Amino acid sequence: MIFEHDVLVIGAGMAGLRSAIEANRAGADVAILTKVYPVRSHTNAAQGGINAALGEGDSWESHAYDTVKGSDFLGDQDAIEILAQEAPSDIIELEHMGVIFNRDEEGRLGSRNFGGATHARTYFVADITGQAMLHVGYEQILKYKIPCYNEFFATSLILEGGEAKGCLAIELRTGEMHMVKAKAVIMCTGGVGRAFEPSTNALICTGDGMALAYQAGAPLMDMEMVQYHPTTLPSNGALLTEGARGEGAYLINSLGERFMQKYAPNMLELASRDVVSRSEQTEINEGRGINGCVLLDCRHLGEQVIRTKLSQIYDLAKDFSGIDLVKEPVPIRPGMHYIMGGIKTDVNGRTMLPGLFAAGETACISLHGGNRLGANSLLELVVFGRRAGAAAAEHAARSQHSGAGEKRLKQDDDTIRELLGREDKGEHAGPLRMELGRTMHENVGVYRTAEGLTKAIGLVAQLKERYRRISVGDKGQVFNTNLTAALELGNMLDVSEAICRGSLMREESRGAQFRLDFPDRNDEQWLKHTLAYKDGDSVRMDTLPVKITRWEPVKRTY
Ligand SMILES: Cc1cc2nc3c(=O)[nH]c(=O)nc-3n(C[C@H](O)[C@H](O)[C@H](O)COP(=O)(O)OP(=O)(O)OC[C@H]3O[C@@H](n4cnc5c(N)ncnc54)[C@H](O)[C@@H]3O)c2cc1C
Repeated sequence: MIFEHDVLVIGAGMAGLRSAIEANRAGADVAILTKVYPVRSHTNAAQGGINAALGEGDSWESHAYDTVKGSDFLGDQDAIEILAQEAPSDIIELEHMGVIFNRDEEGRLGSRNFGGATHARTYFVADITGQAMLHVGYEQILKYKIPCYNEFFATSLILEGGEAKGCLAIELRTGEMHMVKAKAVIMCTGGVGRAFEPSTNALICTGDGMALAYQAGAPLMDMEMVQYHPTTLPSNGALLTEGARGEGAYLINSLGERFMQKYAPNMLELASRDVVSRSEQTEINEGRGINGCVLLDCRHLGEQVIRTKLSQIYDLAKDFSGIDLVKEPVPIRPGMHYIMGGIKTDVNGRTMLPGLFAAGETACISLHGGNRLGANSLLELVVFGRRAGAAAAEHAARSQHSGAGEKRLKQDDDTIRELLGREDKGEHAGPLRMELGRTMHENVGVYRTAEGLTKAIGLVAQLKERYRRISVGDKGQVFNTNLTAALELGNMLDVSEAICRGSLMREESRGAQFRLDFPDRNDEQWLKHTLAYKDGDSVRMDTLPVKITRWEPVKRTY
């Protein structure tokens, strides 16, 4: 079928929901299209909280500077100023919508410490902040009666005269291909964690939107900046929130030492994530770990704090490591968590492809530069989701629908049919994804070298070659997860190539990118963003200056 809307939002995480609400308020006929039911989006997994300079003695300037420093001076300061200035009113709006933030003894919004922040400015709902936000966001979608194409998988963008005009998508319940035309499209498809193995991300975080935009000609920015979170479980990569360290938990090595005293004497466990992850990895590499891990010790926080403020991670540690956080420290290690890079946008979500906007983890504005501070991502979703929604509605008001019709729809349909029609003799997506994930983790993880990156580029190219001959075992039409896994793998391969190329190109160490062969930050040559363009079967790299408004780069210590 062919559907038409003014604005189409692809993705129903909090970035998508907030964009749609704003486009609706601006008078646009907006619809959301999502491959999973909205409240199953990865935003649901966010634990620790959301930042804003709301408390006494705090200021937006302090929040902005912490973010700039956290980014290792790669974040664009005009965007960071907007983030910090607009945060307080967006948090209060969330509260008014119904997000029941924790309160202190006096009944005021209660905050907790988070990494890289000089004030306790992280607002939270126990350790289920993302779930609380996402459910309230979805209530608003129901209130505004915004239509949702639930369980529709976007396969490509419709382009006309160099403009984005909607997308094609498979309805997962029926296998039918549809076209959704729109005068503006907002990509809110989240991160690409599953290109790494293990990862804290849900299985659905496969970089689809980044790949679709990239394939349509929009550049990806700073893709080498991949965040490893310091506290993930070794068994399955599950995250134990930074909120634990925010509440006062320690990190210790096999000798029982609080090793962060060596690496970040002032902020200790609450230094930036890149710094803590590297410190842990150094301890492990130098023989002071325990089976490839160090320990997170929460015991001194007491049962009351653990059971009320950290209840989810209490359960995670118990279920997946068999450890009672009240009684024992839990083994943890750095694990892939977030991508700072993404589809390059301006501060209103405009990408470099007219008609295409992006918000949330899939976008790179760039707020987080080389390293995102914890609790700044949920904030990005509401501040920049709102801004992208308004800008897309404005764009749609002066744009026309595409003339594309059944012929275009059939092209994509034929591609899917060809894939499904192949005899089941080729390789399957699952094992190929595991190979991709291990390759990325081993060579594009906490520590990198030119040798490892070149190896990864070669392996990704080989996987792309093998991917051409992939087959799909399930030939059915209804919820064919074999088929979607194959499509997702194609997307992850494209995005991974851009990650590796960006990392090889950036011959310095900054934020999450640590090059053993270039161990220092090099502001003279590398105070700039990397851009990756898809150029036929290869990648064309470019650079862009960093926007500095008031904070010149200085040495970064914690
Ligand atoms: C375990 C965990 C804990 C976290 N904790 C915090 C925290 O405490 N604070 C913080 O600030 N950040 C946290 N983060 C990061 C933050 O949660 C994410 O960056 C953010 O939620 C991403 O939101 P999003 O709206 O961009 O995308 P998501 O919530 O990931 O949603 C993506 C949407 O895109 C849709 N989609 C994707 N591909 C397609 C396709 N092909 N077709 C149709 N639809 C598609 C999906 O269905 C989904 O609705 C955490 C992340 C993880 C993984």
